[in-house]
Amino acid sequence: MTIGIVGAGQLGQMLALAGYPLGLDFLFFDRSVDTPAGRVAPLLAGGFHDEALLAELARRSDVISFDWENISVDALRRAARGTRIAPPLKALAVAQDRLAEKRCFRRLSIPTTDFAAVDSRASLAQAVARVGLPGVLKTRRFGYDGKGQHVLRSAADLDSAWGALGSAPLLYEQWVPFDYEVSIIGVRARSGAIAVYPLNRNYHVDGILRLTLAPWAASRLARAARRCIERVLEDFNYVGVLTIEFFVHRGRLIANEMAPRVHNSGHWTIEGAVTSQFENHLRAITGLPLGDTSARGHSAMINLIGTMPEMHRFLAQPGVHWHDYGKQARAGRKLGHCTINEASAARRMKRAKVLLSQLYPQLALRP
Ligand code: AMP
Repeated sequence: MTIGIVGAGQLGQMLALAGYPLGLDFLFFDRSVDTPAGRVAPLLAGGFHDEALLAELARRSDVISFDWENISVDALRRAARGTRIAPPLKALAVAQDRLAEKRCFRRLSIPTTDFAAVDSRASLAQAVARVGLPGVLKTRRFGYDGKGQHVLRSAADLDSAWGALGSAPLLYEQWVPFDYEVSIIGVRARSGAIAVYPLNRNYHVDGILRLTLAPWAASRLARAARRCIERVLEDFNYVGVLTIEFFVHRGRLIANEMAPRVHNSGHWTIEGAVTSQFENHLRAITGLPLGDTSARGHSAMINLIGTMPEMHRFLAQPGVHWHDYGKQARAGRKLGHCTINEASAARRMKRAKVLLSQLYPQLALRP
């Protein structure tokens, strides 16, 4: 069976690596052959709107999935012509638009921060008057890792925010003085069966995920997050892996965004769960039974950003799992990750601190 995947980044690479033991083949589609997934599987190179190439992907695939959100839903729908697509395109369309996403959370009674649509300088002023300051102005589409965002602290910031982002449809949302951030990853099979991973605690710097600790033992929050993700999975009649990111404020979850795909905060599941998020996504979209999502021990995943550290030094330490995506180094770019797995949360914390101080001595990132 061949899985066609639109987008050939590190998520696609890890999907392929999880799929080969299941006897699956892969065909990727991306703008360039020089991609992480292109190192491990065949790839069609072309623009994401190239319907002839998308149609070829559909013809040569039994099921189509995607490893990033910013692809054309309409082009993919037209080109697929009967080839099954999972997750559903309606979930992708909602996740592509921060306004639709927030409305979806609200419709499903999932708590989210107050927000307003902004499409003119006048409506920005109205949104700020209604939602209040401070707040964050975000592009509705194509934002990731904190890109396309502007924080407004006072009325004096309106002009600069509008000048920076005003050319695109926007969303203004209330600033959440959150205590920390978590995410939940769930998977729904074609049969309707649902499995949910333990809660992830995530640490960002400059909008980019640096560290995930999982399982994060906060049983009340984990139960609440589970109820939220089940609601979204059921609502979309979803098939595949879905992620929801939350702020935690005064012990309550506030949904920030969702990703209709495997997620960076779930990389620990490769070594730290009975079945990885990548394998479970493939099981779901190919109609196989889901695997156990329980954690084995206590994992910490650290992203390797900007430059790849010298691998020898880290592999010399016990139990360090290393993932190099094979990407060109660039400031702020996710080039790889490493994971450790320990028998207790206390031991995990101790080791995570040591690794972080070796990897990012300049950053004050305290788990
Ligand atoms: P996003 O692209 O929405 O995931 O935002 C990237 C990061 O910006 C988040 O992980 C938060 O650290 C921060 N952020 C985004 N929206 C808000 C908000 N409404 N209040 C506070 N911080 C936010």
